[in-house]
Amino acid sequence: MALLELGAVVAWLADFAGVVREHAAELTELDAAIGDADHGANMDRGMKAVVALDASEFPNAGAYLKKAGMTLVSTVGGASGPLYGTFLMRFGAALPEEGGDGPHLGAALRAGLEGIVARGKAEIGDSTMVDALSPAIDAYDAALGGGKSVGEALQAAVRASAEGRDSTIPLVARKGRASYLGDRKIGHVDPGATSVTYLLESAARTLA
Ligand code: ADP
Ligand code: MG
Repeated sequence: MALLELGAVVAWLADFAGVVREHAAELTELDAAIGDADHGANMDRGMKAVVALDASEFPNAGAYLKKAGMTLVSTVGGASGPLYGTFLMRFGAALPEEGGDGPHLGAALRAGLEGIVARGKAEIGDSTMVDALSPAIDAYDAALGGGKSVGEALQAAVRASAEGRDSTIPLVARKGRASYLGDRKIGHVDPGATSVTYLLESAARTLA
């Protein structure tokens, strides 16, 4: 199966949906500490709706991802729905009609990140999902550009994402509900940075 063909992308999101289901309580607990205790429930509801889509209705990965993104926007009430939804829509729109190789994956991830930033206006250090996703994409590009395989580059992305996720622990949040907490945010990891690391782990498991 080609790297980014429809079946591969469906498998990626199905894997992520399973991980989100498994970790829903954990993600909600992280959000309970700094937000409104719904990140796990939000992501689980959204990804269940994505998995319920009939993949055979879509001509290619781009069309499927557009619908998956719209599904997240419409089924998830919280900030994460529009942000993850925009990520998937932009990711899909960046893909070629068929297939897609390692550089396409990097470009699609970058387009997705740019969609999140356009929508949420978060910068690195604001303690959001951007703190995990942005360094992950840099690591992916650097590894691929340095001659590593897609699988190795995705592993590098996962490592950078986990580091970026952990970098949110000592930070005050400047975006989203956690920003209302001020200094009381310090010492808590960002839930969205945690779920985005799961998304990249799923990509490393399924795409390469
Ligand atoms: P809500 O905050 O509406 O309850 P969730 O709990 O599902 O939504 O998601 C919270 C996560 O969304 C945060 O942990 C953070 O990673 C992410 N987030 C919130 N606002 C922004 C933003 N403006 N830019 C990027 N990510 C954001
Ligand atoms: Mg929340």
